[in-house]
Amino acid sequence: MDYEYVPFQREKDIHNRCCGGKFWCIKDICGIICAILTWLLIIYAEFVVMAVILIPSGAVPKGNATKEMIQQMGFREGQVIFKCPKCCSIKPDRAHHCSVCQRCIRKMDHHCPWVNNCVGENNQKYFVLFTFYIAGISLQSLFLCVQQFTTCVRQEWRECSTFSPPATVVLLLFLTFEALLFAIFTAVMLGTQLQAIWNDETGIEQLKKEEARWVRNSRWKSIQAVFGRFSIAWFSPFTSPSNAKTKLDSYLYSV
Ligand SMILES: [Zn+2]
Ligand SMILES: [Zn+2]
Repeated sequence: MDYEYVPFQREKDIHNRCCGGKFWCIKDICGIICAILTWLLIIYAEFVVMAVILIPSGAVPKGNATKEMIQQMGFREGQVIFKCPKCCSIKPDRAHHCSVCQRCIRKMDHHCPWVNNCVGENNQKYFVLFTFYIAGISLQSLFLCVQQFTTCVRQEWRECSTFSPPATVVLLLFLTFEALLFAIFTAVMLGTQLQAIWNDETGIEQLKKEEARWVRNSRWKSIQAVFGRFSIAWFSPFTSPSNAKTKLDSYLYSV
């Protein structure tokens, strides 16, 4: 049987291909603008969450140690209140001045440059979860690296990676190093955080080794103060622990 060969018109190639045609960038102006917009929206959302929602939580309002404010807060005549000489705020119990944030932080544990923020009363849950999940994915990466390496060795480096064997070894080695470093670092951080919550003593209080001026919470109460009532939400970084605040508390929090 004879077939008639019908020449077809080659579709205009709109793809910019590289790496043997595995990756491409489509030259569609609408798509490019939308993709850039997606990234800008993510960066914007990240900025609002960090600057508006997370950073002020647990910070004492700056310069609230004025006569009017003290009267408004309902302090009695002759009552002892502590004023921070550096940021001019009324220092609640267990608050410490952070020289990086340049303000007082309630139940300040430490200033963490890795999240560019202080770890204190209202964000400790997020910090604990951050270290917990980073330790988790670091261990997973470590496991995957070892698994991939043994697969490659078993297959004598044939068809185990799209990269050349030396490049694969270098990439796997660097990831192993990164995963090992951060698995250890975040696991140690997680341990010290859990110990601090367990003993109801912040990192700074532990360092200063001063007599506890505050009433130490029971272990369960201290855990609940950080994570809220026990539920699956303990493991979610998207829910905030709901702890009842007194009227005085609302003045002493940033608004
Ligand atoms: Zn201060
Ligand atoms: Zn700080």
